[in-house]
Amino acid sequence: MIAHNSTTAAFSASARVAMYLRKSRKDLELEAVGGEDTLERHRRVLLELAKHYELTVTRIYEEVVSGDTIEGRPQMRQLLRDVEAGSYDAVLCHDIDRLGRGGMADQGRILDTFKWSHTAIITPDKIYNLDADLDEEAVEFKTLSARYEYRMIKKRLARGREASVREGKFIGNRAPYGYERYKLQGAKGWSLRPVEPAAQVVRDIFRWYLGEDEARIGVSLIVRRLNERGIPGPSGKDWTPTAVRSILANPVYAGFIRSKSRPAVVTMEEGRKVTHRPRSAAPDIYPGLHEPLISEAQARQAATLLANNKSRPGPKQVAMKNPLSGLVICDQCGRAMIRRPYGNGYPDGLLCSYTSCACVSSTLSTVEDAILEGLQQWLVALDLSLDSGAGERQSAAELQSARTALEAAQAEDARLRAQKARAYDLVEQGIYTPEIFTQRMAALGAELETVAAQISALTAEIERLEAAAEAKAALVPNVRRVLELYPRLQEPEEKNALLRSVLSKVIYHKTRRERWSGGSDLSLTLVPIVK
Ligand SMILES: [Zn+2]
Repeated sequence: MIAHNSTTAAFSASARVAMYLRKSRKDLELEAVGGEDTLERHRRVLLELAKHYELTVTRIYEEVVSGDTIEGRPQMRQLLRDVEAGSYDAVLCHDIDRLGRGGMADQGRILDTFKWSHTAIITPDKIYNLDADLDEEAVEFKTLSARYEYRMIKKRLARGREASVREGKFIGNRAPYGYERYKLQGAKGWSLRPVEPAAQVVRDIFRWYLGEDEARIGVSLIVRRLNERGIPGPSGKDWTPTAVRSILANPVYAGFIRSKSRPAVVTMEEGRKVTHRPRSAAPDIYPGLHEPLISEAQARQAATLLANNKSRPGPKQVAMKNPLSGLVICDQCGRAMIRRPYGNGYPDGLLCSYTSCACVSSTLSTVEDAILEGLQQWLVALDLSLDSGAGERQSAAELQSARTALEAAQAEDARLRAQKARAYDLVEQGIYTPEIFTQRMAALGAELETVAAQISALTAEIERLEAAAEAKAALVPNVRRVLELYPRLQEPEEKNALLRSVLSKVIYHKTRRERWSGGSDLSLTLVPIVK
């Protein structure tokens, strides 16, 4: 929980911060014999600290009475209410005792409030980040609040977590596979964002399981496929059926947040209260703030299939025999072209899955060869276009305009920070009263928040544009690799995966047979995976 003074990175310039000032009995005694005013001295020290960290102090709580308990300290009561409401990212105080002197129950209540509202405490010596994932440092927190009322804390934590879930925030410590956690900007709590390539693995698992572009395969075949491709599982080791099943059953991928625990049911047994968490009680599910990886329909379909397959030995798993499976689309009717084995030494055919379609079938190997030939031509054309820079110009212009906008936003950010530094100077010189200072800070804080949102949106846009340009450039070596490897592969499934590494689909056109006058009019349109 304790981060030493280096941890300013934890607070952005738009972090909302309050200050709490209080005199102790000892301070009063010292003042009585001619000491300096304690609150003024502490305010000066903390303002210096806030200036150093570039914090936005939006309110100063000054306790003029010196109560021993929370009840005797009206400003502390107000501060706790505001912290509870999630008003601040951090509170500055001269030392931790200023907050928590008094009974252990009081101290527990204060630390507890800061902890579950994810509010940090900043003192000149240390930053107490009680919300940090509890490992070794949790021990220190425990000694600090040794005798707090544990049950109350758990209850309040649960209440805070429930509220977060209802708002669609992510409350777990570890992001589900395919996502990463990020701190929400300008709000309390966390959400999730997809991380590639894991997010794509999740989409693939659903597509394979639902049989969206080939015969559907079961969990164990999915496990085998992932491991064969050398993709590490969520644990960093090999994939297991449990890992795949828990992905297929997790509503988070369709954009939902699940309250972590099953709801508790309290009953009385032999005069004692007993808490059960019945397995049958489904956890509550709320729409999340995060981007889904799959559709709701896909999630429902997967859940149904999982439920049906629980006791029976999954569907019959047929090994893929068609290297072009799900890849070739008929241009007449838009359906997938399928393999037709003829036997008796005749080569396999490739025909439209719509039996009365106007298109004409081909032998599978003819289409396969034509695709490879098409890729070869593609490679030549791509090499040329990259050399001449044609087609790059438009995306370069977009990228340039996004970068210009980002520079402008960064300049605005610097201007607001400079104004903040100026406000600190003015309050130091006594030109600003603490009231005017905090008002000014609140206004600047709001503007900084807007600019921070702009900067993050523009940064994301630039990353997207750069990735698109990179993907296009990456296509050349990928196509080259496909052409090299393809003739050496045996398994249709491997060949299929290889083609899919560069092709999203192939559009098939043929309306005349080879032996008809004019001959075959077979033509293929290769669609790359880049947008
Ligand atoms: Zn067709």
